[in-house]
Amino acid sequence: AFNFCAGPAALPTAVLERAQQEMADWQGKGLSIMEMSHRSKEFVSVAEKAEQDLRDLMQIPDNYKVLFMQGGASSQFSMIPMNLLRGKGKADYICTGQWSKKAIAEAKRYCDVNIAATTEANNFTSAPSQDELTLSADAAYVHYCPNETIGGVKFDYIPDTGDVPLVADYSSAILSEDIDVSRFGMIYAGAQKNIGPAGLCVVIIREDLLADADAMLAGTPTMFSYKVAADNGSMYNTPPTYSWYLSGLVFEWLKQQGGVAAIADINRRKAQKLYDFIDGSDFYANPVAKHNRSIMNVPFTLKDAALDKTFLAESEAAGLLNLAGHRSVGGMRASIYNAVPEAGVDALIQFMAEFAAKSS
Ligand code: PLP
Repeated sequence: AFNFCAGPAALPTAVLERAQQEMADWQGKGLSIMEMSHRSKEFVSVAEKAEQDLRDLMQIPDNYKVLFMQGGASSQFSMIPMNLLRGKGKADYICTGQWSKKAIAEAKRYCDVNIAATTEANNFTSAPSQDELTLSADAAYVHYCPNETIGGVKFDYIPDTGDVPLVADYSSAILSEDIDVSRFGMIYAGAQKNIGPAGLCVVIIREDLLADADAMLAGTPTMFSYKVAADNGSMYNTPPTYSWYLSGLVFEWLKQQGGVAAIADINRRKAQKLYDFIDGSDFYANPVAKHNRSIMNVPFTLKDAALDKTFLAESEAAGLLNLAGHRSVGGMRASIYNAVPEAGVDALIQFMAEFAAKSS
């Protein structure tokens, strides 16, 4: 079967098989890595290797900390203002879809939010250009979502925010293509798409943005402090050790595939053939502006929505799983993250062609 779920998403088969092998007896120790203390030398070596592999994969500069945090990407929606406002009362947010909206709603609880641009008027089917951004000089940071998972909308550039730190929710696009980390103040990503199992959120933050306790918003929980997490190697409390270990296996796998540049070539090819097929058909449609189409999440509609249920039942029977669009938008969505092989996209296109032929 091929899994097109938006998240938790497909993991590489090789990773699952290795985890299965190591499940009850990690490296001959007679117990599972899941059962070991997070402070044991065994787990610390797993944790440090995972971080180093991620640093290698993303070429993360030395002046950035990598944090393995909990609470999903959604907790970051609150942690970002709590940590990054640093006495300022305002932040800029770019709004390009449902995840930007959630981040904005949360930030509004803590500060004034300037909407630097929104594409709601076109139903979130594009991203604004640099010229369309109205940035404030006195913002503490600028937040955006480079890849909106639900709408399938991707920025084709990194916004220039001058000296104001840029914060990016990379949940559904991290490790899919090379990015220049030095352009960002902070990058965060819920793990359950291109990294590993849910329960972990990776935060990559420039060291000068780690706020001391007195620079944080009053009342911020200790567990929500990036500085506390950084000072304690992401082990202020017990971290989600098994998710961390599995993420490390995914990073190793990605290195074996040739790294991010190599997987990006495959990702672009996978997405291109699916979009080409959709655009060439009069049965399927994708509404997103071509230069803003996500290479990770491909939403599409059928000519007649009355056929949606049949499409989903028959695709599932054919081993093409989890193609339903997000509950807020309906239609279909194929999430084609790193772990979905090109053969999965080929099989999907073949199924879509056959379904259209017999339903037209
Ligand atoms: N941001 C984006 C872009 C997402 O796609 C998601 C989840 O799918 C989230 C945030 C929320 O992540 P979590 O469920 O880990 O809180």
